[in-house]
Amino acid sequence: MVTTARTTSQHDRAQPATAASGPARHRPAKAGTFDTLNPATSEPIASFPIFDADMVSETVARAREAAAWWSALSWKERQRRLLAWKSHVTRYIMRLAEQVHQETGKPVPDAELEILLAVVHMDWAAKHARKVLRPRRVRSGLVALNQASTLEYHPLGVVGVIGPWNYPVFTPTGSIVYALAAGNAVVFKPSEFTPAVGEWLVNSFAAVVPEQPVLQLVTGLGETGSHLARSGVDKIAFTGSARTARKVMAACAENLTPMIAECGGKDSLVVSADANLDAAADAAVWGAMSNAGQTCIGIERIYVAQGVYHTFLEKLAERVTSLRPGDDREADYGPMTMPGQIEVVEQHIADALAAGGHAAVGGLGSIRQPYVGPVILTDVPEDSAAVREETFGPTMTVTAVADLDEAVRLANASKYGLGSSVFAKNRRAAMRAARALRSGMTSINSVISFASVPSLPFGGVDESGFGRIHGPDGLREFARAKAITRQRMRPPVNLTSFTRTDADMKKIMTVAAMLHGKRYR
Ligand code: NAD
Repeated sequence: MVTTARTTSQHDRAQPATAASGPARHRPAKAGTFDTLNPATSEPIASFPIFDADMVSETVARAREAAAWWSALSWKERQRRLLAWKSHVTRYIMRLAEQVHQETGKPVPDAELEILLAVVHMDWAAKHARKVLRPRRVRSGLVALNQASTLEYHPLGVVGVIGPWNYPVFTPTGSIVYALAAGNAVVFKPSEFTPAVGEWLVNSFAAVVPEQPVLQLVTGLGETGSHLARSGVDKIAFTGSARTARKVMAACAENLTPMIAECGGKDSLVVSADANLDAAADAAVWGAMSNAGQTCIGIERIYVAQGVYHTFLEKLAERVTSLRPGDDREADYGPMTMPGQIEVVEQHIADALAAGGHAAVGGLGSIRQPYVGPVILTDVPEDSAAVREETFGPTMTVTAVADLDEAVRLANASKYGLGSSVFAKNRRAAMRAARALRSGMTSINSVISFASVPSLPFGGVDESGFGRIHGPDGLREFARAKAITRQRMRPPVNLTSFTRTDADMKKIMTVAAMLHGKRYR
């Protein structure tokens, strides 16, 4: 890693869109490289190569060889190496957290928490891959009684992982570790905002698995991601915006490369009249403001039962006013990592106010680059950008509703469907609301807890994407199901032969009528 002496302004982090592959948000430091900057200070951190199509192809070719070696290891041998990686990351957590802090600006304790969550998934994937994916006998059914049936899950080969910057450890490892545990090699393209974190992860894996390049790094801007999507890898696990997901999908279509899309969200928290309002306010503030609101499963909309609306709003305001963004150790959250996002936040606040909304806390004055102070918006029309689009800043809209049903209806009137949260004491009502919320994941009486349960799948619906990471579903995403039947004895009637007679057909039709022809009322 080469530290550059060049001074780069904050503006360089937010170059306008120029390339067909997406916004060129980094000016190359010299031909074929780009700088990564500290978002709080705009100081350059390091310079990284921009991988072109040939470099990506060569990396994928090396990954193919590594995949053959990795997939030939036993479950136990892979598990041992993955657990060694987990232990390495845990032991050096402070170094990695410092790197995350440098590149994203998030407070070090938040970075540690993020890494700990990733470690939980490393542990689970390593320990459960065999159980979930090992070959198993399945029942053949009456029609195929003479067959022994086996279901197996084989590795795909090479998986390309394209990551975002907001959780540069937790998010990509959610794909990387499940893909590795399923027996694949991985080529990882981290966000151009967090390549040093990506490099740290790849180097730490190589430190414990030195034999073959099972996990490799390719760095660059969007175009490098596009090369990876076109490189003929066996699957792309993409995390980022829905806008980019569409481009990745188009690139993947060229080779019929399957993909997972983990995209943005506009998550709601709904508060019932019987909810514990202190707990709900506390969770809402964390869900909306931590990481400067730059969380895909962060809370952006709150719907509160009319009867408790004012009390809840007071509790929210109390908690929010004491929050302070900054770069020092006492700061509650950091700067906006991607300067371009500040414009989006500003636009959403301005739109909301112009449409008749009120700022209960903060407002346009909360924007002091590169920081955005906490903002609570009320009375915002449901069709305004602040309610409909992903804001990705420390803001929330708070809206009074008649009851949980109305809250769910408004929460569901969104093109996104990633996470959601319900606060209610009545367990039955809470479960009913959780089921009715059209999102991939819901927490009851807490926020984003589902992300910390490794046996649960993670992913969204609609514009929030498709496919699942984490848990057994996450392991199966990176495997191909293989069906095998072995004939154990000759069938009493051979239906798949030209020697089949009319009498054979008659027998089978009689049996079929008995088994399946019964009337149902
Ligand atoms: P982004 O879409 O700008 O970039 C994501 C990645 O895609 C980066 O590595 C980028 O270099 C790459 N990329 C850009 N153009 C590409 C192209 N044409 N082909 C291939 N790759 C390309 O997103 P971002 O700003 O890095 O991340 C923020 C977004 O990610 C938000 O919308 C957030 O909600 C979402 N996110 C979702 C999850 C989830 O699990 N659902 C997790 C974290 C972040």
